[in-house]
Amino acid sequence: RTGYVAIVGRPNVGKSTLLNHLIQQKISITSKKAQTTRHRINGILTDEQSQFIFVDTPGFQTRYSSQLNQIMNRTVIQSIREVDIVLFVIEAIRFDERDKGVLKLLSADRPVILVINKVDQLAQKTQLLPFMESMAKEFSFAGIIPVSAARGIQLTELIDMVRPYL
Ligand code: GDP
Ligand code: MG
Repeated sequence: RTGYVAIVGRPNVGKSTLLNHLIQQKISITSKKAQTTRHRINGILTDEQSQFIFVDTPGFQTRYSSQLNQIMNRTVIQSIREVDIVLFVIEAIRFDERDKGVLKLLSADRPVILVINKVDQLAQKTQLLPFMESMAKEFSFAGIIPVSAARGIQLTELIDMVRPYL
């Protein structure tokens, strides 16, 4: 089975890092500076059962100030319409106004998996489960998974969570 997977989230949550680790190639651009990724970049992961075609997106602009921002938002929204499932990436364990703005733009007819990235940075691991529970209560995600894109933690589990949606 083959399917399209969009990776969305505000700048700096680790979308490019996640994509790089999933496809094991340095295609996407990772940087400490926000908004390095200007264009959609596709990466493909193929295993025995599935082919995952990933769409890396520019950071969602939650302030509609400039024309470029609007164009970038439109690009993201268009790329989401074309996919089978959306990976909505946030940082452990914050869900701020910018994240809320991104989530609002995701169309309701697409399944969305909440990817809580950078769990390696968490000082208080005990905060993770209550956070996941409150997010599950408030929104209807297809799944919720904590990962570390940089350390490669829980990425196999993430792939297995995505697989049925292809
Ligand atoms: P993007 O803007 O969403 O594409 O984010 P990037 O992939 O460019 O990552 C932004 C920053 O977060 C970079 O400095 C990454 O090294 C860092 N980062 C990404 N994933 C992780 C992670 O799992 N743990 C930690 N500690 N840092 C991460
Ligand atoms: Mg990026």
